[in-house]
Amino acid sequence: MKQLTRISTTFALSALALSIAATSHAVTNEEILRDQQTPEDILSYGMGLNGQRFSPMDSLNKANVNQLTPAWAFSFGGEKQRGQESQPLIKDGVMYVTGSYSRIWAVDARTGEEIWQYDARLPEGIMPCCDVVNRGAAIYGDKVFFGTLDAKMVALDRETGKPVWIKKVADYQEGYAISAAPMVVDGKVITGTAGGEFGVVGKIVAYDAETGDKAWERPTIEGHMGYIYEDGEAVENGITGGEANLTWPGDMWKNGGGAPWLGGTYDEATNSILMGTGNPAPWNSHLRPGDNLFAASRLALNPDDGTIKWHFQTTPNEGWDFDGVNELISFEYEEDGETVHAAATADRNGFFYVLNRENGDFIRGFPFVDKITWASGLNDDGSPIFTEGGRPGNPFGDDAEDGKGETVFAQPSFLGGKNWQPMAYSQNTGLFYVPSNEWSMDIWNEDVTYKKGAAFLGAGFTIKPVNDDYVGVLRAMDPHTGEEVWRHENPAPLWGGVLTTAGGLVFTGTPEGYLKAFDDETGEELWRFNTGSGVVGNPVTWEMDGEQYVSVASGWGGAVPLWGGEVGQIVKDFNQGGMVWTFKLPSSAGNADVASR
Ligand code: CA
Ligand code: CA
Repeated sequence: MKQLTRISTTFALSALALSIAATSHAVTNEEILRDQQTPEDILSYGMGLNGQRFSPMDSLNKANVNQLTPAWAFSFGGEKQRGQESQPLIKDGVMYVTGSYSRIWAVDARTGEEIWQYDARLPEGIMPCCDVVNRGAAIYGDKVFFGTLDAKMVALDRETGKPVWIKKVADYQEGYAISAAPMVVDGKVITGTAGGEFGVVGKIVAYDAETGDKAWERPTIEGHMGYIYEDGEAVENGITGGEANLTWPGDMWKNGGGAPWLGGTYDEATNSILMGTGNPAPWNSHLRPGDNLFAASRLALNPDDGTIKWHFQTTPNEGWDFDGVNELISFEYEEDGETVHAAATADRNGFFYVLNRENGDFIRGFPFVDKITWASGLNDDGSPIFTEGGRPGNPFGDDAEDGKGETVFAQPSFLGGKNWQPMAYSQNTGLFYVPSNEWSMDIWNEDVTYKKGAAFLGAGFTIKPVNDDYVGVLRAMDPHTGEEVWRHENPAPLWGGVLTTAGGLVFTGTPEGYLKAFDDETGEELWRFNTGSGVVGNPVTWEMDGEQYVSVASGWGGAVPLWGGEVGQIVKDFNQGGMVWTFKLPSSAGNADVASR
């Protein structure tokens, strides 16, 4: 009898696979460009290449969100759990979701049943700085793509989960890794690389989605050459926009960091990839006097060949590990009868910037956190007004003791006013919903020399809380005035992405385990559900069979438990996990479907 049951289950699964094969079709570039307007699928990280994380759906709204109920949950399984920072994709009734340790699943979006699982075979000695996370996949044609912790790009057949091509993007033994979700623009799979803490040179690489042939490669540190590839051969593609020693002393540019580890967004109006770059390496800024381009910057790149169209540096001669990777979200507004093509970003350094995305010009900026110690404000061009004594001291200076420069108190901490977790922009309210944190650090500098595959910091630090009862603050920010319209404080640091909807809702998760929904105008908490482990993933919403669904990955981890210092006390008892949860409003149709199985 048991044997019979197993056979029939196998048969049912094959039938399921067949029905999916019959209904799915190749994803086109046009579908990806329209992603935000088509709620029946989610084809891109950001729920649209502009990264707004705004859904036009409103059947789930302020009036009924309190009835939101689990539809199914899916376990990532395995002994290895850790941080789940992924954003699910949805196509033709199938969810594609990545998990920790470079794993990816296809799951039936109606039932939560697994269709296939692919585990990257990670070598010993991978060097992710900040947990074994993965932030999501990309989808195009009949394939799904994701990057791995050993810095490979993997293309899988969507139906079977079998690899079609696998390419080495960079050498993991130098410290490169990939945690970002790739994006697909006009048939090219584009990814950034991590590794700034190991003195790699950041790079952005594009592949032909069909063949896996490399299309172009763009280093992010001034002085390194970019290339396009023709018939597999590198063709020089102009200098990066400057000579090696314009903003870097000596040979420091050769290990200059600037890792674009968070990937990016794409703006169709200007045909630009918008991507941020991480800290210049090493952290000790006294070893590299100069602006250190293009680290701690936002870049606009031509997706056809990777040339840099413009750059905007948030923290010149960055010396606090503020990086500069935070997402640039494209949005429009009217001013003096003209449409302004703007992009906004909330930097780890504590300032919120509004840029003209046609040319990178600074429009305005303001703090989005309660206190910034390292700069007193921004100049008319958006450059920071550095505070006297705000920079950690020179280990070779007069104040140095025992090889350590003067320790300074800095706020925000290097984990940032906002870290990787993406904010959302509502086309209804015109507000940005920013998952931010209030914390500080003691930071000091030391000497360091570059050694392949070793940490290249030249700094030490201790992160500390600044308030008795909270670190995290979900903020509604007005991008025109800098006004904080509302705030919601959370005991633990916020580390998950935000979703907003035309139904007037703002969703985000907490390390305490909750997925929460807020009123987009008032910040009132309207709904919460405890997922059993910390939520540090990106919530999404989509439509299936006429109903609105919400999904989020759950699983506590990421950089906070590794690097949080005294803040680690707040989170030390949080349990690990690895699930994706899916919710919808109760409906008789949904219940009948469950009963018939
Ligand atoms: Ca869509
Ligand atoms: Ca960094």
